Amino acid sequence: KPVVIIVIGMAGSGKTTLMQRLVSHLSTSKSRGYVLNLDPAVMSLPFSANIDIRDTVNYKNVMKEYHLGPNGGILTSLNLFATKFDEVVGLVEARAADLDYVLVDTPGQIEIFTWSASGAIVIEAFASCFPTVVTYVVDTPRSVNPVTFMSNMLYACGILYKTRLPLLLAFNKVDVVKHQFAVEWMDDFEAFQAAVEGDSSYSSSLSRSLCLVLDEFYKNLSNAGVSAVTGEGIEDFFHQVDKCADEYMESYRPDLEKRK
Ligand code: GDP
Ligand code: MG
Repeated sequence: KPVVIIVIGMAGSGKTTLMQRLVSHLSTSKSRGYVLNLDPAVMSLPFSANIDIRDTVNYKNVMKEYHLGPNGGILTSLNLFATKFDEVVGLVEARAADLDYVLVDTPGQIEIFTWSASGAIVIEAFASCFPTVVTYVVDTPRSVNPVTFMSNMLYACGILYKTRLPLLLAFNKVDVVKHQFAVEWMDDFEAFQAAVEGDSSYSSSLSRSLCLVLDEFYKNLSNAGVSAVTGEGIEDFFHQVDKCADEYMESYRPDLEKRK
């Protein structure tokens, strides 16, 4: 069965660019990919999608019809699409024997996907059929700021607990800043505390306390440093994805059987 990779991350973290890189890596390494775009508002896709939400719902029309702003339009479009998501999974299942990976791009604004009923429907629909991995894309250059780093980790933590799926942190843009510092902060909370030392603001003292709590959370995470632009680290990324897929089979899948 193919492994489903759901790409999530803050706006501008590089989800779509990473998708493009993953798609091109699959084609050069002769792996078979199937590509979904779930961002109704993307202007032009830098990769070709097998299934594109824009072919089914026109988000500008949805905005007009329901008198919504851009975010409401995106959310409603995703909701409309989610009502037919069993058909989408059916299409993927029909092709499953010929596929290695299914790549899923999500809307630019992370909240729309992670904190909506439709995002949960999409994730559960995949996770009940295929080994599914959530990739949380981090904008590494922005995360050198410890408070930004901490916000990202809390967000990722929320996604982990909500989906219970294996989570892979993709530290993107390593062509600009290497992700070594982030790995150090996750491995050793004292290193993180040293980074916020001397800063007495509320958010950094909060970050100091949180890093103790997050220590346990980090143990459940995989990470890979990548550059969607140069292709650096993509091989290792897929290696981590495969390990996460094994983890899905070992822990998520048996849980799912129990819940049925
Ligand atoms: P999305 O909103 O998460 O889909 O982000 P995009 O893929 O649209 O990328 C946002 C911006 O980050 C664009 O200007 C990209 O060119 C840039 N970007 C994405 N990945 C990388 C990377 O690996 N390195 C660098 N330097 N820039 C990147
Ligand atoms: Mg995008």
